[in-house]
Amino acid sequence: MNNKSEIRDTFGRKFEYLRLSITDECNFKCNYCLPDGYARTHEKQFLSQIEIQNLVIAFSELGTKKVRITGGEPSLRKDFSSIVNIISLINGIEKVAATTNGYRLKKNAHHWIEAGLDAINVSVDSLDANTFNLITGKNIFNKVIDGVNAAISAGYRQIKINSVLMKGINEGDLIHFLAWIKDHPIQLRFIELMQTGNNEVFFNKHHVSGETIKSYLLKSGWMKKVPLSHDGPAQVFMHPSYQGEIGLIMPYSKDFCKNCNRLRVSSIGKLHLCLFGDEGINLRDLLQVKSNKEKLKKRILTALTDKKESHYLQAGITGATPHLASIGG
Ligand code: SAM
Ligand code: SF4
Repeated sequence: MNNKSEIRDTFGRKFEYLRLSITDECNFKCNYCLPDGYARTHEKQFLSQIEIQNLVIAFSELGTKKVRITGGEPSLRKDFSSIVNIISLINGIEKVAATTNGYRLKKNAHHWIEAGLDAINVSVDSLDANTFNLITGKNIFNKVIDGVNAAISAGYRQIKINSVLMKGINEGDLIHFLAWIKDHPIQLRFIELMQTGNNEVFFNKHHVSGETIKSYLLKSGWMKKVPLSHDGPAQVFMHPSYQGEIGLIMPYSKDFCKNCNRLRVSSIGKLHLCLFGDEGINLRDLLQVKSNKEKLKKRILTALTDKKESHYLQAGITGATPHLASIGG
């Protein structure tokens, strides 16, 4: 029996979407995220399968319908497929998605869909193999693209490509990305580079607004889609001659936080009300046994009363987040 309710904050925003990090480890060295590679800052005690199950059941009973599994690189966990399966079987969860750097996608696209994964976001910051290598520190561009193609043939409900916009690095890629989605049914998401605790110098050098792309698209026959309640903060564009769509994530734009629909839990069980918030609220002591479910739900609801109306990124305040791999981007 699922006692479904809904979570709203004091600004009326509804939270049906949970982003769950299952590890903060990563095997890439993206220049905007982990330029020096992963360095462990705590004992390796990521959420266990039981803890994940208890957590998602509580969220589901509070109205969560969609869970995105992220990291670090979530597919580095050997039990990734089992975690997908556990979440997909929870009453009330309608969609299980994951965000990946694509390293293990080619081999596993079919297994993951069988385990219950509905949707996948793959990070591809450039369609030029050398630039891809320069950005990620991994010379495996073709393997990642093969992974995307494997995901297309596996039949995922939704495939999105995440690409972080970086001045002077991948600006020239727009034309190639557009050619790619002309006959591929994927949503290409351009994400504005965000400042985090560790990347201030890089951010100041390479941040570029998504507005330039937006005006280019509008001049070239692309139309903005009417936002659906579950779209969240992305602005989505479509074109009659293209199979694919474009999503723009512009965290520095006015009203970005107005449509916030997500809560985050880190790989060590802390609830984060915002990517750029404070240290997070510990939930872990309530995750070991099912009988703590009502206490857990109460703690989540109480925490939510503190969710701020907006982040303060425009003022350069990045909160306690050193990089997005730390709490799950
Ligand atoms: N490792 C997986 C990946 O890269 O897809 C999942 C975790 S990663 C933190 C999630 C997303 O956050 C990726 O699409 C990545 O490009 C994006 N990201 C990381 N740091 C960012 C930043 N500073 N600004 C904008 N996007 C960022
Ligand atoms: Fe790893 Fe993803 Fe961060 Fe790149 S963006 S370093 S793949 S966690």
